[in-house]
Amino acid sequence: MVETSSVARDLAPILGTPVDLVDMDRAIAAIESLIRVGEPSLVVTVDTSAIVLAQTDAELREVQAGASLATPDSIGVLWALRRRGIALPERVSGVDLVARICGLSADHGYRIFLLGAAPGVAEMAAERLRLLYPGCNIVGTRHGYFPPESDETVAAEVAAYHPDVLIVAMGIPRQEKFLWRTRHLHRAKVGIGVGGSLDVFGGKAKRAPRIVQRLNLEWLWRLILNPRKLPKALTLPKFVWMVLTRR
Ligand code: UDP
Repeated sequence: MVETSSVARDLAPILGTPVDLVDMDRAIAAIESLIRVGEPSLVVTVDTSAIVLAQTDAELREVQAGASLATPDSIGVLWALRRRGIALPERVSGVDLVARICGLSADHGYRIFLLGAAPGVAEMAAERLRLLYPGCNIVGTRHGYFPPESDETVAAEVAAYHPDVLIVAMGIPRQEKFLWRTRHLHRAKVGIGVGGSLDVFGGKAKRAPRIVQRLNLEWLWRLILNPRKLPKALTLPKFVWMVLTRR
């Protein structure tokens, strides 16, 4: 157990990337606790691509090490843990976290800002989330197409909304680096990187049918619909190779 800013953690590193041994309920409890602590904190969802990228990206490694919660967000990550005798019941993905955080916001009024995806998508996602979780308090939205030179300006724009939770959907590692570099400017109590989740809620990307999700083949479904994801998909065999060959 490691103690960081009053949140107790059970951690296991995978190829150097820390991963919290949590299911969805424990992840949500940790997020609520971080909101209560009130200091800017980072939540990352760790999939195999994040771990492979971190092998050659020192800044991403630093960001991952600084995160207050790192959820196991892929079947590859669950597999690597299982090989070490750690059985987690489920992935804790960005899409599912967004849904649960919006549910929490409806219950407790937490202020949420949605940042990321193409122009218009975050607004559509906000509308959809308000329908799904009546009362959820989305206080602002902004698209994610701006250069890193504008990070500070965008973070200051976000700060004006005083979000408790800043949900950033700009892809790994851009979203994590943005959240970490600007944490003292945006001041959100929890900043969380959620990849393509706003596309899912904004209606731009469909989740795979339940049966495909249950077979753990959602990644293949996404790849067929969007071949530009091939480089990311190719990190999986690389990941498997590294886990099998490194001690
Ligand atoms: N995106 C963005 N700004 C950028 C590049 C990408 O907001 O400069 C968005 C893109 O529109 C998409 C998301 O980031 O909504 C990336 O989704 P993806 O599923 O590729 O993320 P991953 O979780 O695979 O890193």
